[in-house]
Amino acid sequence: MKSLLIINAGSSSLKFAVFNLPLTQDSLSVYRGQIDGIGANITFVAKDVDGKVLLDTTIMAPEGSNLEAQHQLSLERLLAWIEEQHIELAAVGHRVLHGGKEYCAPVVVTPEVLKVLEGFIPLGPLHQPHNLRPIGVLAKKFPNLPQVACFDTAFHRTQPWEAQTYPIPRKFTEEGVIRWGFHGSSYDFISRQLEDVLGKEKANGGVVIAHIGNGGSMAATRERKCVATTMGFTALEGMMMGTRCGTIDASIVFHLMNHYKYTPEQVSDILYKESGLLGVSGGFSQDMRDLEASDKPEVKEALKLFYYRAAREIGSLAVAAGGLDAIVFTGGIGENSPVARKAITDYLTWTGLKLDPELNKIRGKAHCIEAADSKVAVAVIPTNEEWMIAHHTFTLLAL
Ligand code: AMP
Repeated sequence: MKSLLIINAGSSSLKFAVFNLPLTQDSLSVYRGQIDGIGANITFVAKDVDGKVLLDTTIMAPEGSNLEAQHQLSLERLLAWIEEQHIELAAVGHRVLHGGKEYCAPVVVTPEVLKVLEGFIPLGPLHQPHNLRPIGVLAKKFPNLPQVACFDTAFHRTQPWEAQTYPIPRKFTEEGVIRWGFHGSSYDFISRQLEDVLGKEKANGGVVIAHIGNGGSMAATRERKCVATTMGFTALEGMMMGTRCGTIDASIVFHLMNHYKYTPEQVSDILYKESGLLGVSGGFSQDMRDLEASDKPEVKEALKLFYYRAAREIGSLAVAAGGLDAIVFTGGIGENSPVARKAITDYLTWTGLKLDPELNKIRGKAHCIEAADSKVAVAVIPTNEEWMIAHHTFTLLAL
């Protein structure tokens, strides 16, 4: 039996999933896991389909090895483990941050395509080089192994001009300073479930999909195509997140640099890593489970701001979608926190939206949670980005 390997490579981690062929609607990954701490103490954990830990080990990098070498070593260890499991790979699918304007859909990676994708590194310097690294390594090692890239930005290319454009001089817009939007594989997956969960009419209406996890964004769809999204040129804009600030006045950046004398790197760390729930809770936690369990006043304020800002984003997206027929919650918080779903939708009762408290408590499968007399449908749909990438890899290569 042949399998697909799905890779999501970051700056210090490499997440993976393995799916057996043929891929079906219900296929679960037979193995999944992650290599963490690349550049420091590298750990490698692999689990089976039931979540049983099959491997939990450290990878010893040679003394003095640089980050590049450690990334390569990590990928090699993963490939060796895959071979030990007697997995024969038919293809590899990759999560890639940026497809630019060129790629509005997944693509089979050729040397020419890889060159184009490398050209997008300035648009996503924190992710793109790391996403592309394993593609290059695999292409050298196994030139006949097909590889597919699925882009975080692709789903959002259907946004109209006014949704993608910042009011800045045209020169920058033309050079790519636009609202790219991210979390594309998740939105792609959810948009394909809408009809089953909401029914055809609502699925094709104005829908706000709220992907709320440690990172969070929302997208508005009409006819199941993206018409607006909250993340922008980078994944910093939009919702308040675990450690990211979301939308703030851009002049705060100048103030932090001019008044507090922070360097650009320090400002970036403050806004990406020390803000959001973590920052407003006074450094308490970015993890929703810790926050929901705490009585600290700063934590209560952090949560209030989080819910309030999420609800305001839904209001804005409803305008872009020309109405609000349904809200879909997904992501770690969206799928698992009835408290967050209630608190966010409480700001939207003026639309005629009403939750059913019992349905809101149910965990697991995709389901609706609105009351029978609610004017807006509300659903929880677990996302599955790895399956989505596997599906594109499977269909694009006609495996
Ligand atoms: P993600 O980035 O999508 O993996 O989501 C991570 C976030 O989901 C973290 O803030 C977790 O605390 C949150 N989360 C996961 N499970 C739960 C739960 N049962 N209740 C509340 N939040 C949860």
